[in-house]
Amino acid sequence: MTLSKLHSDGMSFDWERLVFEVSDNVDGFVSVDNWSVLGMTIRSGVPCAERRPQPLSVSMARRAIVPIAPRCPYPCTVATPKIVLFYVFTPLPDPEAIRLWQHRVCESLGLRGRIIVSSHGINATVGGDIREVKRYVKATREYAAFRDADIKWSDGVGEDFPRLTVRVRPEIVTFGVPDEVEVDENGVVGGGTRLSPDELHTLIDERGDEVAFLDGRNAIEAQIGRFRGAIVPDVDTTRDFVGLLESGELDHLKHAPIVTYCTGGVRCEVLSALMRHRGFTDVYQLDGGIVRYGERFADQGLWEGSLYVFDKRMSIEFGSPTVIGRCVECGTPTSRVVNHPDRNGRELAVACEECVPTGA
Ligand SMILES: [Zn+2]
Repeated sequence: MTLSKLHSDGMSFDWERLVFEVSDNVDGFVSVDNWSVLGMTIRSGVPCAERRPQPLSVSMARRAIVPIAPRCPYPCTVATPKIVLFYVFTPLPDPEAIRLWQHRVCESLGLRGRIIVSSHGINATVGGDIREVKRYVKATREYAAFRDADIKWSDGVGEDFPRLTVRVRPEIVTFGVPDEVEVDENGVVGGGTRLSPDELHTLIDERGDEVAFLDGRNAIEAQIGRFRGAIVPDVDTTRDFVGLLESGELDHLKHAPIVTYCTGGVRCEVLSALMRHRGFTDVYQLDGGIVRYGERFADQGLWEGSLYVFDKRMSIEFGSPTVIGRCVECGTPTSRVVNHPDRNGRELAVACEECVPTGA
């Protein structure tokens, strides 16, 4: 409450009896958190006592004055951290030129994240303040092949990525089979049928328990969230999928309706094509991945738990899901993924704060 608000309440004041606590000072206006009259606490101009003393005669005495903080040179700028996730499969004849351009755009805007470019397309996760991220998206769409990219926005927490890396690789997702993947201007050739979140539900309605879900991510990611009843392969990296498909382990599903899913859909574009190449005949992929499904159905659909993400947040939630992860040390339910046991390393584990404290 500010002094001007106090006056606008239309009361008459005896300035000797009103006590208010000054908590802030903005542009020379004193704002008041609490004030009291004759020992009665009053907040937001409403006396707490049942009867307002009549006539109201109050006074004020300053109890505390907080020093005025130096003004920020840009007082209206409040950092709003945002993260964008997108990929485009399209033939890129000169990936190095795309890499240089993307690097320059991100660097000039002060953005961080991870961008992988190959002759098959681009896969990017970029974070920063909303204004700069919007500029990045606009610049990226100026390249004709990226114009219709499906950009997935989410809230960051600030400093979500330690650095900016923009690299050219043989594949934008590393299945280890760059020569097998064929890409044209419509995307990956021969991939699984795309299903929107609603179309996925239609498929389930029509074919029920026949439908199998295949988690297209690394096993650790599925520990904290997955589709109900999904097959979760025991894979450490995306490279392990080719071996899995050729192991015979999933051969009983070769003619069953099988839906692959991953975080944003990029891995399933390739995985579903590799499955078709290996004799799986009824393959679907969840378009837009868990991200789009979660935006559509939150925790009211077939998804359970949290979504692992590749940035400082480590995981995100849709609605208020049931916690399905279990601490690797003590078994307590948790969705917390940490670097463990190697504190600098890559080995990730689901672990509670008590067993593996932050910063340990
Ligand atoms: Zn624990």
